[in-house]
Amino acid sequence: MLVKEFQNKLFLRFDHNEDFVDSLSKFLEEKKISSAVIISGVGMLCDFEIGWFNIETKEYETRRDPIPHELISVSGNVSKKDGKPFAHLHVALASQTHRLFGGHLFKGIVCNTVELVIEKTPEFDLKRGEGKTFRPIV
Ligand code: ZN
Repeated sequence: MLVKEFQNKLFLRFDHNEDFVDSLSKFLEEKKISSAVIISGVGMLCDFEIGWFNIETKEYETRRDPIPHELISVSGNVSKKDGKPFAHLHVALASQTHRLFGGHLFKGIVCNTVELVIEKTPEFDLKRGEGKTFRPIV
């Protein structure tokens, strides 16, 4: 992973075959970043798992796909959950036929690259509340 930092902004370039969510989580933990906003993210993901939260069942309905997709956008935030940084990530992905879909990102392997821009926001001191599946920022 390539990292460039200027004031409160970070540019992260993830490399081919990196586990995107896992690498980001480890980086945030190492740098002790637990309050931030994901400003932008583009690239490609494969072997990803995304979810749609069913408000009736209170559970995520998930979709997995091993095929590389364009990562059109990543947005989200970083907060503290159970004492550790937690990246809440939503993605928009495009297939080879240019169909767009998206959801909450659980897992994704970087294909070629993912380029991410984060802004640290320590003044917000973002923390996740209690709950089984849905834990909003409090
Ligand atoms: Zn979500």
